[in-house]
Amino acid sequence: MEIAARLQGVQASASAEISQAVRALRAQGRDIIDLGIGQPDFDTPAHIIAAAHRAALDGQTRYPPTGGTLALKTAVAAKFLRDNALTYSPEEILISNGAKQIIFNGFMATLETGDEVLLCAPFFDSYASIVRVLGGVPVKLEVREADGFILQPGDLAAAIGPRTRWLLLNSPGNPTGAVYGVGDYQALGAVLADHPQILIMSDEIYEHIIFDGAQHVSFAAACPGLQDRTLTVNGASKAYAMTGWRIGYGGGPRSLMQAMMVVQSQICSGACSIAQAAAVAALDGPQDFVVAARAAYQARRDLVFAGVNAIPGLSLRKPGGAFYALVNVENLPFATDREVAQFFLNEAGVAGVPGHVYGLSPFFRLSLAAAQDKLDEGLRRMKQAVENL
Ligand code: PMP
Repeated sequence: MEIAARLQGVQASASAEISQAVRALRAQGRDIIDLGIGQPDFDTPAHIIAAAHRAALDGQTRYPPTGGTLALKTAVAAKFLRDNALTYSPEEILISNGAKQIIFNGFMATLETGDEVLLCAPFFDSYASIVRVLGGVPVKLEVREADGFILQPGDLAAAIGPRTRWLLLNSPGNPTGAVYGVGDYQALGAVLADHPQILIMSDEIYEHIIFDGAQHVSFAAACPGLQDRTLTVNGASKAYAMTGWRIGYGGGPRSLMQAMMVVQSQICSGACSIAQAAAVAALDGPQDFVVAARAAYQARRDLVFAGVNAIPGLSLRKPGGAFYALVNVENLPFATDREVAQFFLNEAGVAGVPGHVYGLSPFFRLSLAAAQDKLDEGLRRMKQAVENL
């Protein structure tokens, strides 16, 4: 089959590939601890499921408005104000099938062929694929572990060129766990102030998974002068263990959101009406799940931080948020981090993701979205495998 040229160089996501390798090994009877997958291991809270059930029985089963139900847009507006000190009207909000579709719609609505998107490497691998599919050029802007994986203003200034259309920021970050503070954002904002053609996409999907009492900061709240060219991306997937419900949302300038809605209307006609009702319950209802999940992820983060740093050849900077550990593997005797991932899979039965997938090597990403006994056992096996080298 001839596949369109726009798909050349674009692959299905790397995590799907790793899940497949895990399934194949398990089918051979191997006991594999899967720390590759990036989704909460908790179930969606019951009150959210109950709201979906009620919505379905109440007849909320027809096409919802393309851009999202007024009930969910209202809940999202209240959430942005409550948690992020951001004011968005319902016309400045779009509801999509996951945060990923907000990202896709945003780029589709704005990128001309050859336009550049600055991505802080290491980055969530879908960013680059989406940009490529749409004819844009992902530009890798490497951040340094020594800087806590935070983009430095001088590096941003040096990367900006005539074709730069977007800067993509992601805090708390996948895969780094880096958390940007007000000062970090304002330093970047000062650079961006001189480049009015650049839009800012701030992916805040991990906002609630943040540790040690730190407060999440929204880029647009730190740099209010740039709110009119910022797309704030968020969603229900990570905060409420709702990855399967596919609800994401974005806030941004009205003209951008309108164009994104046009894109969405031709792709999918909007997000599932029942899942939207569930998301209203998630945002408006009790938030104790969010608090409990955060504490659980922090305990796992502590366990993995100590465990990884006790393995010779591995080092881990303490992640400040999200649910990943990006382990530095430069002191292991392998040429590439792909080999490191294969080594841990074959010799320790532990699946993780090599750093090259995210555009920075040599690293190995472990997910903290697994029970503590699995993490303990995974670390024990990794240590044993390294000691046997
Ligand atoms: N942004 C980041 C940084 C992510 O890690 C993910 C999911 N892995 C997404 C967006 C997509 O989230 P959703 O499930 O809402 O599409």
